[in-house]
Amino acid sequence: MAAHARSASNPDQADERRKRIKLGGAILGLLAAGGITWFQLSRETPAEAASTRRMLQCASSGNVFPHDFEVGESQPFKCDICGKDDAYIPEKCYWSKGADGQWTIKDTPTYVILPYRLDQAGARSMDCPDCGRQIVGHNPKPAQEDVDRANGAAGANSSGTPGG
Ligand SMILES: [Zn+2]
Ligand SMILES: [Zn+2]
Repeated sequence: MAAHARSASNPDQADERRKRIKLGGAILGLLAAGGITWFQLSRETPAEAASTRRMLQCASSGNVFPHDFEVGESQPFKCDICGKDDAYIPEKCYWSKGADGQWTIKDTPTYVILPYRLDQAGARSMDCPDCGRQIVGHNPKPAQEDVDRANGAAGANSSGTPGG
């Protein structure tokens, strides 16, 4: 009955494995060099990873609320606030752009429901209503170096100086 065949001989899988090995090597290198913990790399606390609690957003009201997942639940989830079956897993944007045009990381993210959550044919990315950056599935939280790079790039982009 299952329509979704598991493709064991998918060539992507071998490629994925190669990537993983490469990533593993890179991480080991980082660990050796800087003593960086895995938690910093994954940017998720152990409590967060183990918890079944996630933030949900109601498509009707825009309200965001924490929800403990139970086995067998699927989208759309029941909204704890208005009671409609209209809540989805939102993406988080931690980027913020100040009046001076400089990017910063904000503590409380902006939550958005990507269009494809509502409709499979919908877009899988959208611009953040707050800061204008593109938000994708599993939208990554920026590290300070990402923010620095974004600020640096904005400054360096002002003129296309040919360089050698
Ligand atoms: Zn609601
Ligand atoms: Zn944003």
